[in-house]
Amino acid sequence: MYDILIGKGRIVDGTGNPWYRADVAIAKGRIVKIGKIVSNEAEEVVDASDLMVCPGFIDAHAHSGIYLLVNPRGESMIRQGVTTQVCGNCGSSLAPITDVNRDYMTSRRGSLTDEVSWDWASFNEYLEKIEGQGTSINFVSFVGNGTVRTAVMSLKLRKPSQEELREMKNLVDEAMKAGAFGLSTGLYYSPSGFADTDEVVELCKVVADYGGIYHSHIRGESAMVLDSVKEAIEIGDRSGVPVEIAHHKAYGRDYWHLIDDTLQAMEDARDKGVDVTCNVYPYLFGQTGLSAMVPYWAHAGGREELIKKLKDAQTRERIKKDMREGVPGWESHVKATGWDTIVVARCPVHESYEGKSMSQISKEEGKDPYELALNLLLEGLEGMGGTSVKIFGQGEEDRRKVLKSHLSMIGSDGYALAPYGILAKGLYHPRMYGCFPRLFRKYVREEGLLTFEEAVRKTTSLAAQKLGIRDRGLLREGMWADIVVVNPKTIADRATVQQPYLYPTGIEYVLVNGEVTVEKGEHTGALAGQVLRHKR
Ligand SMILES: [Zn+2]
Repeated sequence: MYDILIGKGRIVDGTGNPWYRADVAIAKGRIVKIGKIVSNEAEEVVDASDLMVCPGFIDAHAHSGIYLLVNPRGESMIRQGVTTQVCGNCGSSLAPITDVNRDYMTSRRGSLTDEVSWDWASFNEYLEKIEGQGTSINFVSFVGNGTVRTAVMSLKLRKPSQEELREMKNLVDEAMKAGAFGLSTGLYYSPSGFADTDEVVELCKVVADYGGIYHSHIRGESAMVLDSVKEAIEIGDRSGVPVEIAHHKAYGRDYWHLIDDTLQAMEDARDKGVDVTCNVYPYLFGQTGLSAMVPYWAHAGGREELIKKLKDAQTRERIKKDMREGVPGWESHVKATGWDTIVVARCPVHESYEGKSMSQISKEEGKDPYELALNLLLEGLEGMGGTSVKIFGQGEEDRRKVLKSHLSMIGSDGYALAPYGILAKGLYHPRMYGCFPRLFRKYVREEGLLTFEEAVRKTTSLAAQKLGIRDRGLLREGMWADIVVVNPKTIADRATVQQPYLYPTGIEYVLVNGEVTVEKGEHTGALAGQVLRHKR
């Protein structure tokens, strides 16, 4: 007797091969048979006539580390068909926490800080915390170099001493032992970007011992994008780890042509034996904190120091100058794309700003946009609630090139949210609810850029292969039963910039480890996700 039978569906197995028709039987969380199966052999039957039966989607790049602790149901992601999320990215993981970085770690989460108990320290304790609370989605985490750096040397902008580097390597070792999948960096951000290439290479050598990977939000995504991709490849080459380039794109019209070169650089690196791939989201804008608009050096020393710098007239002018012009090794978003592409997403102090561009607000208020931005930042730092912004200025042709590349997989860069409670405040990026369905609606059904099967490969087996997850990402007997049943005619994102909380359509069933978690589009309440631990 099987637990569940998914009958009469079209099997899209995750390899990219064309669909075929078969039944799928599940027992004890695993796929036990694919073929012709009689329905009275199963406790529960799902009729998938003319629906696509696919492996559950793997979100190759996300930031749900704290959100799944706030709400373990992972609503906005599971409803898209995501059964595994890769977190701890861009240099920032929720562990390790030490006496040195405890205040930093627990004070920078805005309104979510009080929703979480913060009663873990090591990476292993953090994974156990998620496990203990339960999760609807399988959880994967990298360890962030920024987090490790603050755990040892706080927010100091300098090279680590030998002793500090040794301590950082020990923390990476501990995280890898606990099951981290590798090291992430967010070299554009502070404090991750306080690290130079050599420092990241040293940390990645520890990752190499465990067969993990290096996942990089690269140092610059505008004029520096090609050099930054090459730096990531160099880190992989020198330390002996595979490289994953996060949310690959170029910001700023002047730099769009560079995507041809970055994709070529990845191909060239692969020819030489460096395993490099990338991920991408199907939107032309990102979302980040307003604090990322100020130069890296301003973040040295942390929050109190930044407040002092913003209040000192001379230093404030220097910050504005660097935002206008950039500085060697750090490129300014404002310079690359302009204030009219920077749109306020969440601003608890001035809710009326939400949805407006910085240029528009500056005109309405009769204030210089740099002054306006620094004032908003200061209000956030002084505890009135941080401002986040959407940054437009990515190109459609670039997006299509990256999506089409055989090296790209899909990463939402999003969070698992819920359209109720504390996670429903502010204008989040619509990718939180719409990333995966959007890929299938826009780039598969409407534009035909990818076949359905190719899109499924990019959302399943490619990520599993990269992460070294051997028992998910394909529909095969013996694999864990992470399965999404999709209506290819109706799959669509509904979330928009103005209404980001709308669930998609066309995701009929989602099974996580053999448990039905979404049934006819509704969450069943199941918390069947597992914390996945990387094994050597
Ligand atoms: Zn990032």
